[in-house]
Amino acid sequence: MKKRFTTLVAALIVTTTFAVVAQQSDREPSPSKLQQHVSYLASDAMDGRRTGTAGANDAARYIAGEFSRAGLTPANGKVERKPRAIIASYLQTFPYVGRVELGRNNVLSMRSGEAFRAGADWMPLGISANQTLDLTGVVNAGYGITANELNHNDYKGTYSKNQVAIIQKGTPDGDNPHGRFTTAGQLRFKVAAAQGAGVGALLIISSEEDLKNDTLARLSYDNAGLAGIPVALISKQAAEKLANATELKLATDVVRAEVPAYNVVGVLEGSDPVLKNENIIIGAHYDHLGRGGEGSLAPRSGEVHHGADDNASGTAGLIELARIFGAQRPKLKRTLVFIAFGGEEEGLLGSNYYVNHPLVPLDKTIAMINMDMIGRMKDNKLMIGGVGTATEWRQLLAKTDFSLTLNEDGFGPSDHSSFYMKQIPVLFFFTGTHVDYHKPSDTFDKINYNDEARILSLVARIVRDVDAADKRLTYTTAKSEPPRTGGFRVYLGTIPNYADSSDGLLLDGIRDDSPAAKAGLKAGDRIVKIDNRDVKNVYDYTHALGEMKAGQEYVIEVVRGTERLTLKITPAARN
Ligand SMILES: [Zn+2]
Repeated sequence: MKKRFTTLVAALIVTTTFAVVAQQSDREPSPSKLQQHVSYLASDAMDGRRTGTAGANDAARYIAGEFSRAGLTPANGKVERKPRAIIASYLQTFPYVGRVELGRNNVLSMRSGEAFRAGADWMPLGISANQTLDLTGVVNAGYGITANELNHNDYKGTYSKNQVAIIQKGTPDGDNPHGRFTTAGQLRFKVAAAQGAGVGALLIISSEEDLKNDTLARLSYDNAGLAGIPVALISKQAAEKLANATELKLATDVVRAEVPAYNVVGVLEGSDPVLKNENIIIGAHYDHLGRGGEGSLAPRSGEVHHGADDNASGTAGLIELARIFGAQRPKLKRTLVFIAFGGEEEGLLGSNYYVNHPLVPLDKTIAMINMDMIGRMKDNKLMIGGVGTATEWRQLLAKTDFSLTLNEDGFGPSDHSSFYMKQIPVLFFFTGTHVDYHKPSDTFDKINYNDEARILSLVARIVRDVDAADKRLTYTTAKSEPPRTGGFRVYLGTIPNYADSSDGLLLDGIRDDSPAAKAGLKAGDRIVKIDNRDVKNVYDYTHALGEMKAGQEYVIEVVRGTERLTLKITPAARN
Protein backbone atom coordinates (compact mmCIF):
# COMPACT_ATOMS: atom_id res chain seq x y z
CA MET A 1 0.00 0.00 0.00
CA LYS A 2 2.63 2.42 1.06
CA LYS A 3 4.81 1.45 -1.78
CA ARG A 4 1.95 1.71 -4.15
CA PHE A 5 1.03 5.02 -2.64
CA THR A 6 4.53 6.40 -3.00
CA THR A 7 4.75 5.09 -6.51
CA LEU A 8 1.47 6.77 -7.24
CA VAL A 9 2.66 10.03 -5.69
CA ALA A 10 5.92 9.75 -7.54
CA ALA A 11 4.03 9.08 -10.72
CA LEU A 12 1.80 12.05 -10.05
CA ILE A 13 4.78 14.30 -9.39
CA VAL A 14 6.39 13.07 -12.56
CA THR A 15 3.26 13.73 -14.59
CA THR A 16 2.74 17.16 -13.08
CA THR A 17 6.34 18.11 -13.68
CA PHE A 18 5.99 16.93 -17.22
CA ALA A 19 2.78 18.87 -17.60
CA VAL A 20 4.45 22.05 -16.34
CA VAL A 21 7.39 21.53 -18.64
CA ALA A 22 5.06 20.84 -21.53
CA GLN A 23 3.07 23.99 -20.81
CA GLN A 24 6.16 26.14 -20.63
CA SER A 25 7.52 24.79 -23.87
CA ASP A 26 4.10 25.31 -25.40
CA ARG A 27 4.22 28.96 -24.46
CA GLU A 28 7.78 29.81 -25.51
CA PRO A 29 9.37 29.64 -28.96
CA SER A 30 11.95 26.88 -28.94
CA PRO A 31 15.39 27.37 -30.55
CA SER A 32 15.77 23.62 -31.11
CA LYS A 33 12.41 23.34 -32.87
CA LEU A 34 13.35 26.33 -35.03
CA GLN A 35 16.58 24.61 -35.94
CA GLN A 36 14.69 21.44 -36.83
CA HIS A 37 12.38 23.29 -39.25
CA VAL A 38 15.10 25.43 -40.80
CA SER A 39 17.46 22.49 -41.37
CA TYR A 40 14.68 20.63 -43.14
CA LEU A 41 13.39 23.52 -45.25
CA ALA A 42 16.91 24.64 -46.18
CA SER A 43 18.17 21.11 -46.92
CA ASP A 44 19.34 19.97 -50.36
CA ALA A 45 16.16 17.87 -50.61
CA MET A 46 14.08 21.06 -50.98
CA ASP A 47 16.25 22.10 -53.93
CA GLY A 48 16.09 25.79 -53.06
CA ARG A 49 12.25 25.96 -52.98
CA ARG A 50 11.83 27.89 -56.25
CA THR A 51 8.11 28.56 -56.72
CA GLY A 52 6.44 26.04 -59.01
CA THR A 53 9.06 23.33 -58.43
CA ALA A 54 8.74 20.01 -56.60
CA GLY A 55 11.01 21.35 -53.83
CA ALA A 56 8.74 24.30 -53.10
CA ASN A 57 5.65 22.09 -53.17
CA ASP A 58 7.27 19.64 -50.73
CA ALA A 59 8.01 22.58 -48.44
CA ALA A 60 4.37 23.71 -48.70
CA ARG A 61 3.16 20.24 -47.71
CA TYR A 62 5.57 20.17 -44.79
CA ILE A 63 4.21 23.49 -43.51
CA ALA A 64 0.62 22.27 -44.00
CA GLY A 65 1.47 19.18 -41.92
CA GLU A 66 2.82 21.38 -39.13
CA PHE A 67 -0.26 23.63 -39.26
CA SER A 68 -2.46 20.57 -38.95
CA ARG A 69 -0.42 19.30 -36.01
CA ALA A 70 -0.73 22.69 -34.29
CA GLY A 71 -4.50 22.38 -34.50
CA LEU A 72 -5.11 25.06 -37.13
CA THR A 73 -8.18 24.71 -39.33
CA PRO A 74 -7.57 24.66 -43.05
CA ALA A 75 -8.49 27.90 -44.75
CA ASN A 76 -11.03 26.24 -47.00
CA GLY A 77 -12.90 25.18 -43.85
CA LYS A 78 -13.54 21.57 -44.84
CA VAL A 79 -12.58 18.82 -42.43
CA GLU A 80 -10.90 16.05 -44.37
CA ARG A 81 -10.02 12.55 -43.20
CA LYS A 82 -7.43 11.25 -45.61
CA PRO A 83 -3.89 12.56 -44.91
CA ARG A 84 -3.41 13.78 -48.47
CA ALA A 85 -6.73 15.61 -48.48
CA ILE A 86 -5.92 17.15 -45.08
CA ILE A 87 -2.66 18.59 -46.41
CA ALA A 88 -4.30 19.81 -49.63
CA SER A 89 -7.01 21.64 -47.69
CA TYR A 90 -4.41 24.08 -46.32
CA LEU A 91 -3.18 25.03 -49.79
CA GLN A 92 -4.37 28.06 -51.73
CA THR A 93 -3.40 27.67 -55.38
CA PHE A 94 -2.34 30.65 -57.46
CA PRO A 95 -1.43 30.72 -61.16
CA TYR A 96 2.26 30.73 -62.03
CA VAL A 97 4.29 30.30 -65.20
CA GLY A 98 6.78 27.64 -64.23
CA ARG A 99 8.10 26.37 -67.52
CA VAL A 100 9.14 28.24 -70.65
CA GLU A 101 9.96 26.53 -73.94
CA LEU A 102 10.54 27.47 -77.53
CA GLY A 103 7.54 26.82 -79.74
CA ARG A 104 7.78 25.68 -83.36
CA ASN A 105 7.39 28.95 -85.16
CA ASN A 106 10.59 30.87 -84.47
CA VAL A 107 11.94 32.51 -87.61
CA LEU A 108 14.56 35.18 -88.21
CA SER A 109 15.57 35.50 -91.85
CA MET A 110 16.73 38.06 -94.41
CA ARG A 111 15.45 38.58 -97.91
CA SER A 112 18.75 37.29 -99.24
CA GLY A 113 17.54 33.94 -97.96
CA GLU A 114 19.89 33.73 -95.03
CA ALA A 115 18.10 32.28 -92.03
CA PHE A 116 19.32 32.36 -88.45
CA ARG A 117 18.87 29.34 -86.18
CA ALA A 118 16.79 29.86 -83.05
CA GLY A 119 18.76 28.65 -80.04
CA ALA A 120 22.12 29.11 -81.76
CA ASP A 121 22.19 32.43 -83.64
CA TRP A 122 19.32 34.05 -81.81
CA MET A 123 16.93 33.32 -78.98
CA PRO A 124 13.56 34.86 -78.08
CA LEU A 125 13.35 35.93 -74.42
CA GLY A 126 10.90 34.42 -71.96
CA ILE A 127 9.01 37.72 -71.79
CA SER A 128 8.74 38.11 -75.59
CA ALA A 129 5.37 38.66 -77.24
CA ASN A 130 4.51 36.01 -79.84
CA GLN A 131 4.15 37.74 -83.21
CA THR A 132 4.99 37.32 -86.87
CA LEU A 133 6.40 40.47 -88.48
CA ASP A 134 7.58 41.52 -91.92
CA LEU A 135 10.15 44.17 -91.16
CA THR A 136 11.46 46.83 -93.50
CA GLY A 137 14.47 48.11 -91.66
CA VAL A 138 16.82 48.09 -88.72
CA VAL A 139 17.34 50.88 -86.20
CA ASN A 140 20.67 51.00 -84.44
CA ALA A 141 19.62 52.33 -81.05
CA GLY A 142 22.82 52.23 -78.97
CA TYR A 143 22.03 50.95 -75.49
CA GLY A 144 18.31 51.31 -76.10
CA ILE A 145 17.76 53.63 -73.14
CA THR A 146 15.44 56.60 -72.84
CA ALA A 147 15.62 58.39 -69.53
CA ASN A 148 14.17 61.86 -69.45
CA GLU A 149 15.67 62.68 -66.10
CA LEU A 150 19.14 61.78 -67.26
CA ASN A 151 18.71 63.64 -70.53
CA HIS A 152 19.50 60.47 -72.38
CA ASN A 153 17.65 59.22 -75.45
CA ASP A 154 18.85 56.47 -77.75
CA TYR A 155 15.71 56.79 -79.91
CA LYS A 156 15.94 60.21 -81.49
CA GLY A 157 13.93 59.67 -84.67
CA THR A 158 10.37 58.69 -85.52
CA TYR A 159 9.90 55.00 -85.95
CA SER A 160 7.29 52.57 -87.21
CA LYS A 161 6.12 49.11 -86.25
CA ASN A 162 7.88 47.82 -89.37
CA GLN A 163 11.27 48.57 -87.89
CA VAL A 164 13.30 46.53 -85.47
CA ALA A 165 15.69 48.13 -82.98
CA ILE A 166 19.06 46.49 -82.38
CA ILE A 167 20.74 47.43 -79.12
CA GLN A 168 23.73 46.56 -76.95
CA LYS A 169 23.57 45.18 -73.46
CA GLY A 170 24.59 47.36 -70.54
CA THR A 171 24.66 51.12 -70.14
CA PRO A 172 26.96 54.05 -70.95
CA ASP A 173 28.28 53.61 -67.39
CA GLY A 174 29.42 50.07 -68.08
CA ASP A 175 28.48 47.61 -65.36
CA ASN A 176 28.68 50.08 -62.49
CA PRO A 177 25.91 48.91 -60.14
CA HIS A 178 25.72 52.39 -58.62
CA GLY A 179 25.79 54.21 -61.94
CA ARG A 180 23.10 56.60 -63.09
CA PHE A 181 21.57 54.06 -65.43
CA THR A 182 20.91 51.19 -63.04
CA THR A 183 17.13 51.58 -63.35
CA ALA A 184 16.79 52.86 -66.91
CA GLY A 185 19.30 50.24 -68.06
CA GLN A 186 17.27 47.27 -66.83
CA LEU A 187 16.06 44.94 -69.54
CA ARG A 188 12.41 45.58 -68.74
CA PHE A 189 12.85 49.33 -69.10
CA LYS A 190 14.77 48.91 -72.34
CA VAL A 191 11.78 46.97 -73.68
CA ALA A 192 9.44 49.73 -72.52
CA ALA A 193 11.70 52.32 -74.19
CA ALA A 194 11.59 50.44 -77.51
CA GLN A 195 7.81 50.14 -77.32
CA GLY A 196 7.53 53.81 -76.43
CA ALA A 197 9.72 54.75 -79.40
CA GLY A 198 7.29 52.90 -81.67
CA VAL A 199 9.47 50.14 -83.12
CA GLY A 200 7.89 46.72 -83.76
CA ALA A 201 10.54 44.51 -82.16
CA LEU A 202 13.73 44.59 -80.11
CA LEU A 203 16.92 42.60 -80.68
CA ILE A 204 19.66 42.64 -78.05
CA ILE A 205 23.22 41.79 -79.05
CA SER A 206 24.75 39.10 -76.88
CA SER A 207 27.84 40.02 -74.88
CA GLU A 208 29.15 36.45 -75.14
CA GLU A 209 31.07 34.91 -78.04
CA ASP A 210 28.75 31.92 -77.84
CA LEU A 211 25.16 33.02 -77.45
CA LYS A 212 24.32 29.94 -75.40
CA ASN A 213 26.52 31.22 -72.55
CA ASP A 214 24.53 34.43 -72.30
CA THR A 215 22.30 34.69 -69.21
CA LEU A 216 19.56 36.13 -71.43
CA ALA A 217 19.53 32.92 -73.51
CA ARG A 218 18.11 30.95 -70.58
CA LEU A 219 14.48 31.39 -71.56
CA SER A 220 13.21 32.30 -68.14
CA TYR A 221 10.06 34.19 -67.22
CA ASP A 222 9.73 36.52 -64.24
CA ASN A 223 5.92 36.38 -64.01
CA ALA A 224 5.73 40.15 -64.34
CA GLY A 225 3.74 40.38 -67.56
CA LEU A 226 4.57 39.92 -71.23
CA ALA A 227 6.31 42.52 -73.34
CA GLY A 228 4.14 44.18 -75.98
CA ILE A 229 6.59 43.40 -78.78
CA PRO A 230 8.90 40.49 -79.74
CA VAL A 231 12.17 40.67 -77.78
CA ALA A 232 15.13 38.45 -78.60
CA LEU A 233 18.84 37.98 -78.04
CA ILE A 234 21.03 37.77 -81.14
CA SER A 235 24.64 36.73 -81.60
CA LYS A 236 27.32 39.28 -82.49
CA GLN A 237 27.73 37.63 -85.89
CA ALA A 238 24.01 37.78 -86.65
CA ALA A 239 23.95 41.43 -85.55
CA GLU A 240 26.66 42.30 -88.06
CA LYS A 241 24.77 40.64 -90.87
CA LEU A 242 21.50 42.30 -89.90
CA ALA A 243 23.00 45.78 -89.50
CA ASN A 244 22.01 46.99 -92.96
CA ALA A 245 19.18 44.59 -93.75
CA THR A 246 16.20 46.19 -95.44
CA GLU A 247 13.79 43.31 -95.48
CA LEU A 248 13.55 40.65 -92.87
CA LYS A 249 11.09 38.34 -91.31
CA LEU A 250 10.74 37.76 -87.59
CA ALA A 251 8.43 35.28 -85.92
CA THR A 252 8.55 34.55 -82.20
CA ASP A 253 6.87 31.59 -80.54
CA VAL A 254 7.46 31.10 -76.82
CA VAL A 255 5.38 28.58 -74.88
CA ARG A 256 4.78 29.53 -71.25
CA ALA A 257 3.25 26.69 -69.26
CA GLU A 258 1.38 27.44 -66.06
CA VAL A 259 2.04 25.22 -63.08
CA PRO A 260 0.28 25.40 -59.73
CA ALA A 261 1.94 27.32 -56.93
CA TYR A 262 0.74 27.56 -53.35
CA ASN A 263 0.15 29.69 -50.29
CA VAL A 264 -0.32 27.64 -47.12
CA VAL A 265 -3.10 29.01 -44.91
CA GLY A 266 -4.18 27.87 -41.44
CA VAL A 267 -6.74 29.48 -39.16
CA LEU A 268 -7.06 29.58 -35.38
CA GLU A 269 -10.53 30.78 -34.54
CA GLY A 270 -10.91 33.38 -31.78
CA SER A 271 -12.85 32.77 -28.56
CA ASP A 272 -14.86 36.00 -28.35
CA PRO A 273 -18.29 35.63 -29.99
CA VAL A 274 -18.03 39.06 -31.61
CA LEU A 275 -14.32 39.86 -31.89
CA LYS A 276 -13.53 36.51 -33.50
CA ASN A 277 -14.91 38.01 -36.70
CA GLU A 278 -11.80 40.17 -36.78
CA ASN A 279 -8.50 38.57 -37.69
CA ILE A 280 -4.76 39.14 -37.38
CA ILE A 281 -2.55 37.70 -40.12
CA ILE A 282 0.94 36.39 -39.34
CA GLY A 283 2.92 35.67 -42.50
CA ALA A 284 6.27 34.59 -43.92
CA HIS A 285 7.26 33.49 -47.41
CA TYR A 286 8.65 29.99 -47.77
CA ASP A 287 9.84 30.11 -51.39
CA HIS A 288 13.41 30.88 -52.43
CA LEU A 289 15.61 30.93 -55.55
CA GLY A 290 15.94 27.25 -56.40
CA ARG A 291 19.24 26.75 -58.16
CA GLY A 292 19.83 30.38 -58.94
CA GLY A 293 18.96 32.38 -62.03
CA GLU A 294 16.67 35.39 -61.63
CA GLY A 295 17.36 37.09 -58.29
CA SER A 296 20.52 35.14 -57.47
CA LEU A 297 23.72 36.90 -56.49
CA ALA A 298 25.86 33.81 -57.03
CA PRO A 299 28.49 34.10 -59.74
CA ARG A 300 27.02 31.12 -61.60
CA SER A 301 23.76 29.21 -61.46
CA GLY A 302 23.28 25.52 -60.82
CA GLU A 303 23.94 25.24 -57.10
CA VAL A 304 21.14 24.86 -54.57
CA HIS A 305 20.32 28.20 -52.96
CA HIS A 306 19.42 27.01 -49.48
CA GLY A 307 17.63 30.12 -48.27
CA ALA A 308 18.01 29.31 -44.57
CA ASP A 309 17.69 32.92 -43.50
CA ASP A 310 15.67 33.90 -46.61
CA ASN A 311 13.18 32.72 -45.56
CA ALA A 312 13.25 29.33 -43.88
CA SER A 313 13.91 31.40 -40.73
CA GLY A 314 10.61 33.28 -41.03
CA THR A 315 8.76 30.11 -42.05
CA ALA A 316 10.09 28.22 -39.03
CA GLY A 317 9.03 31.19 -36.91
CA LEU A 318 5.55 31.02 -38.40
CA ILE A 319 5.30 27.31 -37.58
CA GLU A 320 6.51 27.95 -34.03
CA LEU A 321 3.98 30.74 -33.49
CA ALA A 322 1.24 28.45 -34.85
CA ARG A 323 2.28 25.81 -32.33
CA ILE A 324 2.35 28.26 -29.42
CA PHE A 325 -0.96 29.95 -30.18
CA GLY A 326 -2.52 26.60 -31.05
CA ALA A 327 -1.69 25.36 -27.53
CA GLN A 328 -2.78 28.54 -25.74
CA ARG A 329 -5.80 28.30 -23.45
CA PRO A 330 -7.97 30.24 -23.45
CA LYS A 331 -7.62 31.17 -27.09
CA LEU A 332 -7.14 34.77 -28.11
CA LYS A 333 -10.33 36.78 -28.61
CA ARG A 334 -9.68 37.39 -32.26
CA THR A 335 -8.97 34.93 -35.04
CA LEU A 336 -5.37 34.34 -36.08
CA VAL A 337 -4.55 33.49 -39.69
CA PHE A 338 -1.15 31.95 -40.43
CA ILE A 339 0.03 32.23 -44.03
CA ALA A 340 3.19 30.87 -45.63
CA PHE A 341 3.44 32.66 -48.97
CA GLY A 342 4.82 31.35 -52.25
CA GLY A 343 6.12 33.44 -55.15
CA GLU A 344 7.65 36.16 -52.97
CA GLU A 345 11.02 36.16 -54.73
CA GLU A 346 9.31 36.62 -58.11
CA GLY A 347 7.54 39.75 -56.91
CA LEU A 348 5.17 39.09 -53.99
CA LEU A 349 2.96 36.89 -56.19
CA GLY A 350 1.46 34.75 -53.43
CA SER A 351 0.61 37.60 -51.05
CA ASN A 352 -0.76 39.64 -53.89
CA TYR A 353 -2.97 36.77 -54.94
CA TYR A 354 -4.12 36.37 -51.36
CA VAL A 355 -5.15 40.00 -50.88
CA ASN A 356 -7.18 39.78 -54.08
CA HIS A 357 -8.63 36.37 -53.13
CA PRO A 358 -8.75 36.55 -49.32
CA LEU A 359 -9.91 33.48 -47.39
CA VAL A 360 -11.17 35.52 -44.43
CA PRO A 361 -12.71 38.98 -44.98
CA LEU A 362 -9.97 41.51 -45.71
CA ASP A 363 -11.91 44.41 -44.16
CA LYS A 364 -11.82 42.42 -40.90
CA THR A 365 -8.05 41.91 -41.11
CA ILE A 366 -6.86 44.36 -38.48
CA ALA A 367 -3.13 43.77 -38.83
CA MET A 368 -0.58 41.83 -40.85
CA ILE A 369 2.76 40.88 -39.31
CA ASN A 370 5.45 39.73 -41.71
CA MET A 371 8.69 37.94 -40.88
CA ASP A 372 11.27 37.82 -43.65
CA MET A 373 14.89 37.00 -42.76
CA ILE A 374 14.86 36.93 -38.97
CA GLY A 375 17.64 34.41 -38.47
CA ARG A 376 20.84 36.42 -38.53
CA MET A 377 20.59 38.74 -35.56
CA LYS A 378 23.87 40.42 -34.65
CA ASP A 379 24.58 42.66 -31.67
CA ASN A 380 20.93 42.51 -30.62
CA LYS A 381 19.90 44.61 -33.65
CA LEU A 382 16.39 44.23 -35.00
CA MET A 383 14.75 46.17 -37.82
CA ILE A 384 11.02 46.72 -37.82
CA GLY A 385 9.24 48.29 -40.77
CA GLY A 386 5.70 49.61 -41.02
CA VAL A 387 5.59 51.42 -37.67
CA GLY A 388 3.89 54.36 -39.38
CA THR A 389 0.94 52.28 -40.58
CA ALA A 390 -1.04 52.35 -37.30
CA THR A 391 -1.00 55.03 -34.61
CA GLU A 392 -0.52 52.41 -31.88
CA TRP A 393 2.56 50.60 -33.22
CA ARG A 394 5.26 52.78 -31.66
CA GLN A 395 3.74 52.48 -28.22
CA LEU A 396 3.38 48.70 -28.58
CA LEU A 397 7.05 48.50 -29.52
CA ALA A 398 8.24 50.78 -26.74
CA LYS A 399 9.24 48.06 -24.30
CA THR A 400 11.80 45.64 -25.74
CA ASP A 401 15.35 44.54 -24.96
CA PHE A 402 16.39 44.79 -28.58
CA SER A 403 18.23 47.65 -30.15
CA LEU A 404 15.59 48.60 -32.67
CA THR A 405 15.79 50.38 -35.99
CA LEU A 406 12.28 51.51 -36.82
CA ASN A 407 11.07 52.39 -40.30
CA GLU A 408 7.76 54.17 -40.92
CA ASP A 409 7.05 52.87 -44.39
CA GLY A 410 4.43 50.18 -44.99
CA PHE A 411 5.89 49.43 -48.38
CA GLY A 412 9.02 47.33 -48.53
CA PRO A 413 10.60 44.43 -50.37
CA SER A 414 8.38 41.73 -48.90
CA ASP A 415 4.81 40.46 -48.52
CA HIS A 416 3.56 43.05 -46.02
CA SER A 417 3.52 45.50 -48.96
CA SER A 418 0.60 43.62 -50.51
CA PHE A 419 -1.44 44.15 -47.34
CA TYR A 420 -0.41 47.75 -46.85
CA MET A 421 -1.63 48.43 -50.39
CA LYS A 422 -5.03 47.33 -49.12
CA GLN A 423 -4.71 49.79 -46.24
CA ILE A 424 -4.10 47.27 -43.51
CA PRO A 425 -1.66 48.13 -40.67
CA VAL A 426 1.53 46.09 -41.11
CA LEU A 427 4.74 45.29 -39.27
CA PHE A 428 7.80 43.80 -40.90
CA PHE A 429 10.48 41.99 -38.84
CA PHE A 430 13.97 41.70 -40.32
CA THR A 431 17.46 41.12 -38.90
CA GLY A 432 19.32 42.62 -41.84
CA THR A 433 21.14 41.52 -44.93
CA HIS A 434 24.52 39.72 -45.02
CA VAL A 435 27.17 38.30 -47.36
CA ASP A 436 25.24 35.05 -47.88
CA TYR A 437 22.10 36.88 -49.02
CA HIS A 438 20.65 35.25 -52.18
CA LYS A 439 23.63 32.91 -52.46
CA PRO A 440 23.95 29.13 -52.06
CA SER A 441 25.85 29.79 -48.80
CA ASP A 442 22.73 30.95 -46.90
CA THR A 443 22.72 27.72 -44.86
CA PHE A 444 21.07 26.48 -41.67
CA ASP A 445 24.28 26.35 -39.59
CA LYS A 446 24.62 30.16 -39.81
CA ILE A 447 21.25 30.86 -38.19
CA ASN A 448 21.13 32.41 -34.73
CA TYR A 449 18.31 30.30 -33.29
CA ASN A 450 18.41 31.68 -29.75
CA ASP A 451 17.89 35.25 -30.86
CA GLU A 452 15.29 34.20 -33.41
CA ALA A 453 13.31 32.65 -30.53
CA ARG A 454 13.56 35.98 -28.68
CA ILE A 455 12.23 37.83 -31.73
CA LEU A 456 9.30 35.41 -31.88
CA SER A 457 8.51 36.08 -28.23
CA LEU A 458 8.29 39.76 -29.13
CA VAL A 459 6.02 39.00 -32.11
CA ALA A 460 3.81 36.85 -29.91
CA ARG A 461 3.63 39.59 -27.28
CA ILE A 462 2.61 42.16 -29.90
CA VAL A 463 -0.07 39.83 -31.26
CA ARG A 464 -1.44 39.38 -27.72
CA ASP A 465 -1.42 43.14 -27.11
CA VAL A 466 -3.23 43.86 -30.39
CA ASP A 467 -5.75 41.19 -29.47
CA ALA A 468 -6.22 42.41 -25.90
CA ALA A 469 -7.43 45.84 -27.03
CA ASP A 470 -11.17 46.33 -27.43
CA LYS A 471 -10.72 48.58 -30.42
CA ARG A 472 -8.91 47.60 -33.58
CA LEU A 473 -5.69 49.38 -34.57
CA THR A 474 -6.00 52.80 -36.20
CA TYR A 475 -4.69 52.66 -39.75
CA THR A 476 -2.58 55.61 -40.89
CA THR A 477 -0.80 56.36 -44.14
CA ALA A 478 2.89 56.07 -43.41
CA LYS A 479 5.55 58.46 -44.50
CA SER A 480 7.25 56.89 -47.50
CA GLU A 481 10.99 56.84 -47.76
CA PRO A 482 12.16 59.69 -49.99
CA PRO A 483 12.54 58.44 -53.57
CA ARG A 484 16.08 57.41 -54.34
CA THR A 485 18.06 59.23 -56.99
CA GLY A 486 16.54 58.41 -60.31
CA GLY A 487 13.10 58.35 -58.72
CA PHE A 488 10.23 59.95 -60.55
CA ARG A 489 9.47 63.60 -60.39
CA VAL A 490 5.79 63.28 -61.19
CA TYR A 491 3.02 61.88 -59.08
CA LEU A 492 -0.31 60.39 -60.19
CA GLY A 493 -1.60 58.84 -56.98
CA THR A 494 -2.30 55.39 -58.40
CA ILE A 495 -1.77 52.21 -56.39
CA PRO A 496 -0.73 49.65 -59.00
CA ASN A 497 -1.14 45.94 -58.58
CA TYR A 498 2.42 44.71 -58.99
CA ALA A 499 1.55 41.06 -59.38
CA ASP A 500 -1.27 41.06 -61.89
CA SER A 501 0.35 40.07 -65.16
CA SER A 502 -2.45 40.28 -67.68
CA ASP A 503 -2.56 42.97 -70.36
CA GLY A 504 -2.30 46.48 -68.99
CA LEU A 505 -1.78 47.78 -65.48
CA LEU A 506 -4.42 46.93 -62.91
CA LEU A 507 -5.01 49.54 -60.22
CA ASP A 508 -5.64 48.40 -56.67
CA GLY A 509 -6.53 51.86 -55.52
CA ILE A 510 -6.42 55.61 -56.06
CA ARG A 511 -5.15 58.07 -53.48
CA ASP A 512 -7.63 60.73 -52.34
CA ASP A 513 -7.36 64.15 -54.01
CA SER A 514 -4.60 62.88 -56.31
CA PRO A 515 -4.26 63.64 -60.04
CA ALA A 516 -5.58 60.11 -60.71
CA ALA A 517 -8.66 60.76 -58.56
CA LYS A 518 -9.28 64.05 -60.35
CA ALA A 519 -8.92 62.32 -63.71
CA GLY A 520 -11.72 59.95 -62.70
CA LEU A 521 -9.62 56.78 -62.35
CA LYS A 522 -11.05 54.11 -60.08
CA ALA A 523 -9.76 51.04 -58.25
CA GLY A 524 -10.15 48.04 -60.56
CA ASP A 525 -9.38 50.08 -63.69
CA ARG A 526 -6.79 48.68 -66.05
CA ILE A 527 -4.54 51.28 -67.70
CA VAL A 528 -3.78 50.19 -71.27
CA LYS A 529 -2.35 53.38 -72.79
CA ILE A 530 -0.68 56.56 -71.61
CA ASP A 531 -0.02 59.32 -74.12
CA ASN A 532 -0.37 56.85 -77.00
CA ARG A 533 2.14 54.42 -75.50
CA ASP A 534 0.97 50.87 -74.94
CA VAL A 535 1.03 49.85 -71.30
CA LYS A 536 1.31 46.07 -71.04
CA ASN A 537 2.77 45.74 -67.56
CA VAL A 538 4.11 47.68 -64.59
CA TYR A 539 7.44 48.37 -66.32
CA ASP A 540 5.78 50.04 -69.30
CA TYR A 541 3.77 52.08 -66.83
CA THR A 542 6.78 53.10 -64.76
CA HIS A 543 8.69 54.01 -67.89
CA ALA A 544 5.81 56.13 -69.21
CA LEU A 545 5.65 57.87 -65.83
CA GLY A 546 9.32 58.78 -66.14
CA GLU A 547 8.63 60.47 -69.47
CA MET A 548 5.78 62.63 -68.15
CA LYS A 549 6.05 66.25 -67.05
CA ALA A 550 4.20 67.79 -64.12
CA GLY A 551 1.43 70.21 -65.03
CA GLN A 552 1.03 68.91 -68.58
CA GLU A 553 -2.17 67.14 -69.62
CA TYR A 554 -1.98 63.57 -70.95
CA VAL A 555 -4.52 61.21 -72.44
CA ILE A 556 -4.86 57.95 -70.56
CA GLU A 557 -6.86 54.94 -71.73
CA VAL A 558 -8.36 52.51 -69.26
CA VAL A 559 -10.49 49.40 -69.38
CA ARG A 560 -13.27 49.41 -66.80
CA GLY A 561 -15.36 46.25 -66.88
CA THR A 562 -16.33 45.91 -70.53
CA GLU A 563 -15.83 49.60 -71.30
CA ARG A 564 -12.80 51.32 -72.69
CA LEU A 565 -12.52 54.90 -71.45
CA THR A 566 -10.34 57.81 -72.48
CA LEU A 567 -9.53 60.15 -69.60
CA LYS A 568 -7.31 63.16 -69.17
CA ILE A 569 -4.74 63.32 -66.41
CA THR A 570 -2.39 66.07 -65.26
CA PRO A 571 0.49 64.74 -63.15
CA ALA A 572 1.57 66.74 -60.12
CA ALA A 573 5.16 67.41 -59.13
CA ARG A 574 6.52 65.03 -56.54
CA ASN A 575 8.01 66.94 -53.67
ZN1 LIG B 1 14.84 36.84 -50.91
